[in-house]
Formats: sequence, structure tokens, C-alpha cells
Amino acid sequence: MATIKTQLVVFDFDWSMADQDTDRWIFEVLAPDIRRKMKTLKESIQWTDLIAQSLQEIHARGRTREEIEHTLRQMPFHPAMVRGVTNLKGASNPSTTFFCLSNANSVFINTILESKGLQNLFEEIVTNPAEFDPSGLLKLRRRVDPDGPQHSCTVGCSPNMCKGEELAAFLERHKPGYDRIIYVGDGSNDFCPILRLRSQDMVLCRRFRGLEGRISREGGQQCQVKYWAGAWEVEEIFNQFIEKN
Ligand SMILES: [Mg+2]
Ligand SMILES: [Zn+2]
Repeated sequence: MATIKTQLVVFDFDWSMADQDTDRWIFEVLAPDIRRKMKTLKESIQWTDLIAQSLQEIHARGRTREEIEHTLRQMPFHPAMVRGVTNLKGASNPSTTFFCLSNANSVFINTILESKGLQNLFEEIVTNPAEFDPSGLLKLRRRVDPDGPQHSCTVGCSPNMCKGEELAAFLERHKPGYDRIIYVGDGSNDFCPILRLRSQDMVLCRRFRGLEGRISREGGQQCQVKYWAGAWEVEEIFNQFIEKN
């Protein structure tokens, strides 16, 4: 294989970088009855819209911005993941750029990254936009505005965002690109972007979740596939990238 001088690490967030799902965690901790209701409604309401609506409900109950932020900081996040990405970013050969591609939202992701000292890790974070209004309501919108032009994904991405199209757009913004792309993901919506990876690229697929099933049932990806279950194994793989050079 040709020498790798530049690489891009693309991270899904929930259950990939973090060891939990932000959308569900918030309600499991602050309002389990709403969490239960989400299970019932998720077939009939688009997921991002359902989270936006559920955030309005907990705000109406008097749950504060501080409670939401505190709950996010408490969410499981493996120390080996912090070490692994920090060491890889600090290494100069190869030089590594990090890109976050997530169906969570900007407030959830940034709050957690800051609490881990990782606020400068990512070159870009592409996700659903969110912000607290002055009353403490967390206002969340889809990345792709439902009233504007929609994405044209045929692989099954949710209407709020096509991760494959977003990865292609990132690469278009960052020419001439990277010698290698490593995609870390777990969910069925991480299948679309990995179909765009090349033979020198790699997916680090978390076991026992939606992505593993789609790779085994549908296949068709050109990239190499490595499996992991615990964040310590991602750290181990990242360390091997550094040691080889
Ligand atoms: Mg995920
Ligand atoms: Zn897609």
C-alpha cells in the first residue's frame, strides 16, 4: 500500500464516539414517560421532529437548560475514546483530520465534547442545528429543511440528512482529499456513506448494531471492514496507524 500521509477520520457520534444515544439518554434521565412515548411515535413522526417535539414537552414541564447540559455531561463516554482520538490527532505522521457526521444535534454534541476537552477535535461537525432560546427551550431543526429541496438518497437515509451526500460535500470542500478515509460508525444510517468509500479506505463498524447487519445483508462496499465492540479497540486500531509510520 502507498504511504499514507493524510487521512480523514469520519465519526458518527451516538454509539460510535459516545457510548450512548444522546436523543434517548436525555429523556431516559429527565422524563422516562416521554422516552416511552417516543417508542410509540417513532414510526409515525420523523425522528428529528419527534425529538424537537419532545424537547418542547420537557421545557413545558419546567426542565431547564442546566438540567439538559448536566445530563449530557453525565452520559457514558469511554476514556479510551478520549485517549485514542487525542493521540491520533497529536501524531504528525500521518496527519489526521476529524469530521463529525451525526443525526444528533449541535448542542448535544458540543456540550459533550467540551466536557471531555475535545471541543477542538473536529474540523467540521455536520448535524442537525439546535440552540437554546432565552427561555431555555432547546430548539432543534432538521439539517435538510422540510420546506426546501430534499436530498436524493436512495440508500435509505432519513429525510433530515443523507450522510453519503454530506460526506461527498465535505470532500468537495476539502480538495484534494485524503490518502485514506476511516469511517467510525454503528447505525443503519452509516451504511450510505460507506458505500462511497474507496478500496484504500476503511470502516470501523461497531458490532451488534444496525450497520453490522446492513454490511452482512446488503454489502457492496469497496472499503475494508474492521469490527469493534468497545472503545478501547478503536484506540488500539488508532494506535496501530501511528506505530506503522
Ligand atoms: Mg450512531
Ligand atoms: Zn444517504
